[in-house]
Amino acid sequence: MNQKIFLENCVSFSNSQHYLKTVCVRGGYDPFDDPYGAILPPLYRGVTYVMPDTETTERVIRGEEGGFVYGRFGNPTVEVLERCVAELEGLGLADFLFRGIDALACASGNAAHRLLITHFCSSGDNIVLSPYLYGGTRHLVEYRVSFANTEARFVEDPADIESWRRLIDERTQFLFVEVPTNPHGYMYDIRALSDLAHSFGKPLVVDSTIATPILMRPLEYGADFVTHSLTKGMAGHSQGMGGIIVGGQEEIRHLRMSEARDEGAVLAPDTAWLIRLGIMSLYERVAAHAKNTFSLVSALQQHPRVRKVWHPLCTDHPTYNVAAQLLEGYPSLVYVEIDGGEKETRRFMDALRFCRNCVHLGDANTFATHCWSSTHGVLQPREKKSSGIVPNGVRFSVGMEDIRSVIIDVAEALEKI
Ligand code: PLP
Repeated sequence: MNQKIFLENCVSFSNSQHYLKTVCVRGGYDPFDDPYGAILPPLYRGVTYVMPDTETTERVIRGEEGGFVYGRFGNPTVEVLERCVAELEGLGLADFLFRGIDALACASGNAAHRLLITHFCSSGDNIVLSPYLYGGTRHLVEYRVSFANTEARFVEDPADIESWRRLIDERTQFLFVEVPTNPHGYMYDIRALSDLAHSFGKPLVVDSTIATPILMRPLEYGADFVTHSLTKGMAGHSQGMGGIIVGGQEEIRHLRMSEARDEGAVLAPDTAWLIRLGIMSLYERVAAHAKNTFSLVSALQQHPRVRKVWHPLCTDHPTYNVAAQLLEGYPSLVYVEIDGGEKETRRFMDALRFCRNCVHLGDANTFATHCWSSTHGVLQPREKKSSGIVPNGVRFSVGMEDIRSVIIDVAEALEKI
């Protein structure tokens, strides 16, 4: 484990991390803009807004003027969340770039990815992507993109830039990569990938759900779009589903005005409000998760019934060098290969008493997941294999409880396999 990174980034903090803390609390909303000075952003539940005249209605609908007309076209509470996440992701950019960043919230992380696909791809197009993906994303691109006769081209080795270059052609619409990957924590060189994408005139999309903007901000490395499942660490307490796409103002405006309106997978204002509240404590939560993760990983690495521990900041992880450059602290996802087969691993899962058996991640509670039979359960064995999912693998999403309870629980369950 790289202790230096852990100490530097989770106990002390750099300047931009200092601002991140403030944006988590205040981003996207100014109480002085509210007629009553409400310290919390107001929750606007209504779906429509009275318009002063037809001309204004027309301009707002066309996006030529700010404002709201109808819930599927935009909502003030959702906009607060969008601005907050855009500020978090754009914080490290030069001032003129920072101001050009916007975000579009969606009903879920998958809805965000689907929106990007339908926005960019027509019949005969393709997307080039890493095979190391959350199972739901993999399923979406393997089975659902075909509705538009779009091809998902999986690179053989995402760590090798040539492997990406080989698959790009004139029908490629974008490159897609999850960093860090769920569950193995693979990290890919975002700068090299964005340079490659741009040399072909294509955008790079990075799913940064696992890192959150506290640990990494892909726009700083040249990515064109960043996506998040807000459902996870951003919300932080399993209180609502949501997704978001962050990118240049113009690109986000296009998305908002076209596919987002037509597909209608908008984020409900109540959920946006709850997620915005969750983000208030994002910085402190990420730091607490990181400390606990460090302790759990250290304990797991020493356990004789654990064959392998996958965490991006373990020095024996295949992409450790990239992780050490990009990550500003410990992501809370750990993948562990138990010393046994599927039967023993299921027994281990069922023996856990403190860790919750949930298919979710990024929550204050510690979750354990048997990805083979759950998050990646809908995939064919071939697809699971190419995503690195094994029958004896268990994913931990490390929570904020007293980590000693987690370590004892895991040790006792390992005794029972
Ligand atoms: N991306 C990653 C890395 C995920 O882990 C998930 C869900 O687990 C998603 C996207 C999909 O998000 P949602 O469940 O909000 O649709």
